[in-house]
Amino acid sequence: VKTYPVKVGLWRQIRSRQPSVQAVSNVNLTIEPGEVVGLVGESGCGKTTTGKMLVRLEKPTAGSVRLDGTDIFQLKGRELRSFRRRMQMVFQDPYDTLNPRRSILETLMQPLRYLGLEASAAAQRERALEALDHVELGALGDFSNRYPHQLSGGQRQRVAIGRALVVEPDIIVADEPVSMLDVSVRASVLKLLQRLNRERGIGILLITHDLATAKFLCDRVIVMYLGKVVEEMPSSAMPRAVRHPYSKLLLASVPDLRSEPSGPREHLDGAAPSAIDPPSGCRFHPRCPLAVPRCSTEEPSLRPMGEGSHMAACHVL
Ligand code: SF4
Repeated sequence: VKTYPVKVGLWRQIRSRQPSVQAVSNVNLTIEPGEVVGLVGESGCGKTTTGKMLVRLEKPTAGSVRLDGTDIFQLKGRELRSFRRRMQMVFQDPYDTLNPRRSILETLMQPLRYLGLEASAAAQRERALEALDHVELGALGDFSNRYPHQLSGGQRQRVAIGRALVVEPDIIVADEPVSMLDVSVRASVLKLLQRLNRERGIGILLITHDLATAKFLCDRVIVMYLGKVVEEMPSSAMPRAVRHPYSKLLLASVPDLRSEPSGPREHLDGAAPSAIDPPSGCRFHPRCPLAVPRCSTEEPSLRPMGEGSHMAACHVL
């Protein structure tokens, strides 16, 4: 029986020659057992930093990440190893994340060895081969003895997912898992993640810039802008119920999710401002088509929007 949710309340500041700035500012999110949550926004919005803090690869400057009520940054020894097993991360670039000198079988056995999950090499090998089956590589000839350079991008990402899966995690944080892959294999990798969630009950935090991908895979979607959560909603409510001006402009850049198939299309103008010098008030105000004078001085808080768990942070909604 799974007892988490993971609860996150995070601040993270970047130290630089400039005055310190917040890469992630007061982000609160919860992942319930077996839930798929999408964390969506443009690059630089703090979503990867949030994902890394969730698996303890980066430390928040304030706040905490709690798994079963325990602050993960207080864990040591056996408890820390147990946490490492339960929370796994799959990275964006399948070309970078696999050791080129390790065979696929060794790659999948290594986390079992590191976490002390199987005593014998034979048992580790058996579990590694099972994981290859689960990511649908087992039937395609003897993949286990190949090396990363002998695989396609999609196959490498499946191996990376298998490496996360082999330790039987509760949650996988998947950071843009298909953005570096050929368009032709993206859907199959997303369907693999969906199957692992449905059949094995693995919770997923999907980090993506693409609202269409989030709607396809996720139960709930959280939209971030420049280190802050600006909207959170059930994905079943998309695109109909989207309220925040930033989320709407993100949606407008995804043709198959647009509720209005015709008419003038709005665009996000320019790149997001630098996190080194975030705008005052609502951080989105320099790019917002609905901005009013109050937006440049007063920061909006997340508040309920209509029914259910829909929340948004905007003065004019
Ligand atoms: Fe736009 Fe103002 Fe709402 Fe921010 S608070 S999204 S600037 S209208």
